[in-house]
Amino acid sequence: MSPVPSRITVLSGGIGGARFLVGLLAHLRTANPDGKGGSASEVTVISNTGDDIWVHGVRVCPDLDTVMYTLGGGISAERGWGREDEHFTVKDELAAYGVEPSWFGLGDRDLATHLIRTQSLQSGFTLSEVTAALSDRWKPGVTLLPMSDDRAETHVVVMDPEQGRIAIHFQEWWIRHRAALKAEAFVMVGIDDAKPAPGVIEAIMDADLVILPPSNPVVSIGAILQVAGLADAIRTTKAPVVGVSPIISGAPVRGMADACLETIGVATSAAGVALHYGSRSAGGYLDAWLIADEDAASIAAISSADIRVAAVPLLMSDLETSAAIAAATLALAGS
Ligand code: GDP
Ligand code: CA
Repeated sequence: MSPVPSRITVLSGGIGGARFLVGLLAHLRTANPDGKGGSASEVTVISNTGDDIWVHGVRVCPDLDTVMYTLGGGISAERGWGREDEHFTVKDELAAYGVEPSWFGLGDRDLATHLIRTQSLQSGFTLSEVTAALSDRWKPGVTLLPMSDDRAETHVVVMDPEQGRIAIHFQEWWIRHRAALKAEAFVMVGIDDAKPAPGVIEAIMDADLVILPPSNPVVSIGAILQVAGLADAIRTTKAPVVGVSPIISGAPVRGMADACLETIGVATSAAGVALHYGSRSAGGYLDAWLIADEDAASIAAISSADIRVAAVPLLMSDLETSAAIAAATLALAGS
């Protein structure tokens, strides 16, 4: 058996990435214990910030917060985003004033995070610095880095019956329209000027293993890969790069990733996403790809693209299964 990697870097969106990370940390605690109840392996998370939005005067970073709350034990298990025991008094009061957006789920407890973040950003701290400060409270057990300190937000090109072709913020499309409005394209506004946050490129280049967890391939991982230098780092790092399929039996397990894949012309299947990422031997991003048992029939198609592949149960239903998925990811990396 190959040794457990000591430096692991994970590119993550929100809920899919966060649930995978919970399993990864649990697995590492037993596979590579530090003798103090933790793990001797260091995990760095590069978080998507393309979903970030200014709403009611506060800066919200949904994917950073989902990872931070999930690993820090503060997430709403039921919703998968925002805080547990949450109330929406402020949101209701804002709606009573008739101010928009009324569709954004701003919880009272969650709001405290956004207020601190906003205040710190406005005093001149970078998003990386703010994230580190917030992590002091949550102690996620990973080094949590935003992909960039610069603003670069995903927008969705849609056809509006009155205004014609317009670009709306990703959150408006995802939450307000439940991704039901036909998306013609995704555009990251600001991406041309977005530099990777401090430590991001190093985390990929100096890693022993890079993981693309089961996050949305288009608006989570796809957004991160658009930051200058990120894609090249994934292509050229000496570390193996292993991905975990977010698609099981032709469907995203949670959410509406199928609508995103359709827009970019990629099949909603384990093989479709693997071939979209592509093999590093052919200028793509993957050395290996972990798929669900249910999709074992696509093993041949994926391996013929020079991507190593293994099939395991991939539904992150409990900690045990998520830890087993992480163990299988590490095994596939070392095989
Ligand atoms: P978001 O930012 O909150 O949308 O979260 P991510 O981008 O990190 O992950 C969303 C993706 O996670 C969804 O598109 C699903 O395909 C995937 N996902 C959610 N639950 C599971 C699961 O139990 N197993 C697998 N394999 N994928 C999952
Ligand atoms: Ca997200």
